[in-house]
Amino acid sequence: MERPFFTVQHYIDGMFVDGGPRFEVFYPATNEVIGTAPEGGRAEVDAAVSAASRAFKSWSRTPAAERRLVLKRFAQLIRENEADLAATESWDVGRTMRENTHGYIPRIAANIEFFADFAVTHGSSAYPMDNGYINYVLHQPVGVAALITPWNIPMLLATWKLGPALAWGNTVVLKPAELTPLGAWKLAQLADQAGLPPGVFNVVNGFGPESAGQYLTEHPGVRLISFTGETTTGKAIMTVAAQSLKRLSFELGGKGANIIFADADLERAVNISMRSSFFNQGELCLAAPRLLVQRPVYEQFVEKFVAATKALKVGDPFDHSSNIGALIAPEHLQRVEGYVHGVRNSTAEILTGGERPLLPAPFDKGNYLSPTVIVGTQHSDRICQEEVFGPVVTVAPFDEEDEVVAIANGVSYGLSSVLQTRDLGRALRVAAAIEFGTVWVNDFFVRDLRAPFGGAKQSGIGREGGHYGLEFFTETKTVCLSNV
Ligand code: NAD
Repeated sequence: MERPFFTVQHYIDGMFVDGGPRFEVFYPATNEVIGTAPEGGRAEVDAAVSAASRAFKSWSRTPAAERRLVLKRFAQLIRENEADLAATESWDVGRTMRENTHGYIPRIAANIEFFADFAVTHGSSAYPMDNGYINYVLHQPVGVAALITPWNIPMLLATWKLGPALAWGNTVVLKPAELTPLGAWKLAQLADQAGLPPGVFNVVNGFGPESAGQYLTEHPGVRLISFTGETTTGKAIMTVAAQSLKRLSFELGGKGANIIFADADLERAVNISMRSSFFNQGELCLAAPRLLVQRPVYEQFVEKFVAATKALKVGDPFDHSSNIGALIAPEHLQRVEGYVHGVRNSTAEILTGGERPLLPAPFDKGNYLSPTVIVGTQHSDRICQEEVFGPVVTVAPFDEEDEVVAIANGVSYGLSSVLQTRDLGRALRVAAAIEFGTVWVNDFFVRDLRAPFGGAKQSGIGREGGHYGLEFFTETKTVCLSNV
């Protein structure tokens, strides 16, 4: 695959502009420089927020049906550019094209389309009183939204925020992660082509602390912040945003459990577990890297799961036979390896993986780790408590339902988990008892965009999706109408 070079720009007030020193963008699979992006400072953030404030005056008053038309064109362009966008994600993230071409880009388009339609079709509520008065509820655009996204699934998360924010009449400044600025830049090009008015959608590149991210969260012109990223970053943003009491929606880290009961369809359980363990190299907030298997099928499951893991091909993201791509950066690879080294110094056992695979040049310079399966850990071990964010999972046996519920809940995170059983009663009981924002029963990752999405405990604040996002992205107003 010929290596491109991307000269990323900010997108402010309908124009692609430079501003601030340039930083390099690396291809995770080889660590070669594949582009540069400008680091926005206060000036760029000010310009973007001012443009968004000006555009808000007309965009917020544009009928939802007209906003829908332009957003639909944007979504259509995303679909038409599927091949280019899929490749862009691989250059940006190091994820395999195989995963990118399995519904990933259509989902990005759907994030825009769904909310464009929803804003037109959703109703409101009314409360007629005994005295003949009527209270009715209006949902109105709030203002300028700061959308701050992480590096692991850049375009999916950007559109997950852009869709509802824009459909409900807000204007936005998107700050993509510094490690993956390509996707937001491509999306801005398509939004521009679709005819989104200048200033409605702005992109400012840069870093977090003392950079574009922080300046955006401090900015008095920003009314709401939708942030996805690490829990610690969420805490920092909350502290800053408290000064001006901005509205916050946080989607943060995760440490999901994958509970496999003895009555589960074992072949299916292995397939689901492969995805919930290793999709996106395990760099997934929704991943369920704590596999908990009921004792009667523990040995059998481990044998099948390890065999399936060994069969995964690690390598060139553009080779369609590759299953596992590269981790985002050398520092992140070392961080993930740190957890594996911790296991080597304990009584736990690595059944497969844990090594950097031997790959031909230029991939020998990439951030690769073989998918890793570990047994014999204690639930209190760091590797079972902290977010590893790599292709590393632990597998442990359990006996009783109550026991596994306690283990699943025994972490500070609560984003999502997987539950595999053919017993409906058990599925209902355990799904209700575990403290996670999303529970998949006998599947993984599938979700209706009308359903709420977000995390319990340290995994987030608030819910987005369907009318749950409406609460966040609009100002809810009660009008009390007298009958006299
Ligand atoms: P991160 O928190 O380091 O960075 C996320 C974004 O925040 C980046 O754009 C970064 O520049 C910006 N940022 C950093 N410090 C900031 C500050 N002080 N003020 C303002 N902005 C700041 O996260 P990451 O390493 O890019 O992403 C990985 C994390 O994201 C993992 O913890 C993962 O679980 C989480 N995540 C959660 C979800 C979810 O839906 N809950 C989805 C994907 C990723």
